[in-house]
Amino acid sequence: MTQFTVTQVDIIRRHLAENPGQSPTAIAGYFERVADVDEDTALSIATVAMLLRDGRDSEVSQYIDFSSTVRPHDEARTRYANALIGGAAGDAWGYQVEFTPYRSMPSHPVEAPSGDWVVSDDTQMLLATHAALHECRDLSSIDGVAEMLLQHFIAWSHDPDNDRAPGVTCMKSLRAIERGRHWNDGGARASAGCGAVMRLMPAAFAPAEFRRGLSVLQAVVTHRHPKAALSALLLCDAFSAAGDTSLLDQAGISIRRLRSELPPAWRGDRFLNQVLALLSRDPHDYLSSALGAEPGRRGPTLDDAFAAASHRASSSASTTGWLGDPCADIGEGWDAATATALGLLVADLHFSGRLAPVEAVGWAATSNGDSDSIATLAGALIGAAHAQPDFWKDAGLRPRFEPRYRRELSAAAEAGPAG
Ligand SMILES: [Mg+2]
Repeated sequence: MTQFTVTQVDIIRRHLAENPGQSPTAIAGYFERVADVDEDTALSIATVAMLLRDGRDSEVSQYIDFSSTVRPHDEARTRYANALIGGAAGDAWGYQVEFTPYRSMPSHPVEAPSGDWVVSDDTQMLLATHAALHECRDLSSIDGVAEMLLQHFIAWSHDPDNDRAPGVTCMKSLRAIERGRHWNDGGARASAGCGAVMRLMPAAFAPAEFRRGLSVLQAVVTHRHPKAALSALLLCDAFSAAGDTSLLDQAGISIRRLRSELPPAWRGDRFLNQVLALLSRDPHDYLSSALGAEPGRRGPTLDDAFAAASHRASSSASTTGWLGDPCADIGEGWDAATATALGLLVADLHFSGRLAPVEAVGWAATSNGDSDSIATLAGALIGAAHAQPDFWKDAGLRPRFEPRYRRELSAAAEAGPAG
């Protein structure tokens, strides 16, 4: 009999909720395929799935190895710290070549920074999200959280350090809001740029009942666009599952489900639905409008970007050597959807053992597209999956950030997730 961690049992439970018609054997078969588990483990997964399906939760405890469960509070704090370091290191690594085409890169992979690791707007805004969520006394107050986020984003927009290629949408939305427009009434631009997701990580670490709603909220206060909201949701779920499952498979399940209805976990998320109600009377209509081609817009659709990333993940898993441009066939990460798909791809290739942690961040940085944002997301997702203190140091990554950001990142790691 195989024993599971609490998190692993939660993954089986979630899979069951999202696929109510699937038999326990079919569920075990799914995990055999995506996680390459052995026969004994598959048998135990089928039994746990059957017990959960039949509401016999108390009998599931015999399959849980509680001794392997790190105290959740400490574990979340360490994963948060690792996500902060991985994200900021990816940002600095990619920022060196943000606008350099793949063929003109100084090397493949681009070398890690040699002097100070200079972070860009991605880390600056991520730290602003962290500070805003910490200063909110009540995370359930949507207006209060939006106001606090915007206060911090506007302060960032005037910071003398805000000269590191800030996003056009962020700046234009913040100027309009400063001039008195409400974010939800003409202040936030209808754009799905990657600014909606590169700063999201602190929201994804908020208490479970708020994290999806906060992830969408931090996106739409400057990027009021269904594709920004949907990308934020997919990324939030990826942070929650990082290290436990294939992130692209998980996103693919949500995208497929969204074609006909809201995925059950989203439908049952009260706070998320309160946030979505500000955007549309019909949350399913709103989010599913982000699927498929948009009239008048060229470039990869969200569905195509995630499908291409999934294809790339499976075709690359058994190869060796340099993987080429991460963006090839997927998109360049200037928008929230392709940036998220690329971040998940790099993280999945690490989780499947194809790329070591530092190798993964270096690969993400060597991309034809928005190198710093792609590497920010990849580094943060990889960090979020690991609960060992000194994970990055042990993996061989020792970024030397500028004194200001070293200080701010340390303080944020010390404070831990909000809530
Ligand atoms: Mg940047």
